Amino acid sequence: MGGREIEVVRGHRIDYQLYKYLLQYFSEGGLESLFNAVRRPPGRYYVRANTLRINPGDLINRLRERNIDVYPDEHLNEALWIPVKGPNRIPSARKIVIADKRAAESVYMGANLYVPGVVRFENGVKRGDEVNVIAPNGEIVALGIAEVDGDEVGRVSNGVAVRTLISTYSLPKVREMPEYELGLFYDQSLPAQWVAHVLDPRPGEVVVDMNAAPGGKLSHVIQLTAGKAVIYAFDRSPGKVREMDTILGRLGMAGLYRTEVRDTRYLDIDKPELVGLVDKVLIDPPCTDMGVRPRLFDVKTMDLVKSMSEYQRQFIRVAWKLLKPGGVLVYSTCTIPPLENEDNMAYAESLGFRVVDISIPNASGGLVDRYRDSVARFYPHVQDTPGFFIAKLIKPM
Ligand code: SAH
Repeated sequence: MGGREIEVVRGHRIDYQLYKYLLQYFSEGGLESLFNAVRRPPGRYYVRANTLRINPGDLINRLRERNIDVYPDEHLNEALWIPVKGPNRIPSARKIVIADKRAAESVYMGANLYVPGVVRFENGVKRGDEVNVIAPNGEIVALGIAEVDGDEVGRVSNGVAVRTLISTYSLPKVREMPEYELGLFYDQSLPAQWVAHVLDPRPGEVVVDMNAAPGGKLSHVIQLTAGKAVIYAFDRSPGKVREMDTILGRLGMAGLYRTEVRDTRYLDIDKPELVGLVDKVLIDPPCTDMGVRPRLFDVKTMDLVKSMSEYQRQFIRVAWKLLKPGGVLVYSTCTIPPLENEDNMAYAESLGFRVVDISIPNASGGLVDRYRDSVARFYPHVQDTPGFFIAKLIKPM
């Protein structure tokens, strides 16, 4: 590490090089509003109706019958959203429980704190006590009731540690709904829901998802083709692939795609039977995640951005080999730096790809002139969505 860091807004630090780099694209005030928005969840929590099982209107009615406030998106038929309330003022308690970052970010949104997410119960916390849940950076995220004694927490391995009463932001507990269990919807941000539409998969086509797990965009592709495309879902992580199979099983999609655990940077070598035969490829690679919300605190460096960009280009090279002439590549990320987005599209064009225009209502254009009117971007402080990038490319005939 080393080097000077700038704290752009509370909790969000980037190294000086990355700061200077981003200032080529944003004003100081713009960066500040962007990072401030990253600290909050989007005002709308989006889910996607599983149209293989229910039509979106029926899902809305069903949720409203249970008094859940839910609305249809203005443009995407299967996209529904629930308003997120807050920020709420958190009353202070005399005792505290420290949560790890991931758990703190869920509690911040109203989830209970589970035992695996506990870093420390302050001395003397007893079951039934009112406590504040604190993030590792010291920020208070909720008031709740301890469900276990402090000295018990090391001995039990799961279950609720603190039941949340008041959190900074709140929304219904989506993953505990019967409709979720029944696979009637999947929670997915609005920009992520546009990706499968841009890919526009058709029945009968051969589609490859190079970074499939946990299967958000994959399950959408299956929905849009009613399972009638030949879909290959690859991911490097065995654990995430298992999780994906569980999720898609719940959505009723088992058997509608083929999975293999693969490092897809070598797919042309490992699956030579796919080379030159694929109609559509989706690359949704690991990235610096700078658009992911809500995030209470984070540190990012220019070196990380550069190495991610290099890593992402390896998938693009392989996609070029897999696609048949006339085939389509869709590339998406949940991050901000052009090095991981527009610049990688320029790299793809140097291989022979051609970036084609996409149009998504209310989205912004590219951050560099060449792609101003062709690619789509979403910004936390502009669209109030996660930060997101989507581009569509064609391998010419
Ligand atoms: N498309 C998914 C999210 C993908 S996140 C969805 O919509 O739900 C990025 C994924 O890339 C991670 O699951 C990660 O395991 C995977 N990944 C990272 N490096 C990889 C590699 N070399 N080959 C294949 N997958 C990789």
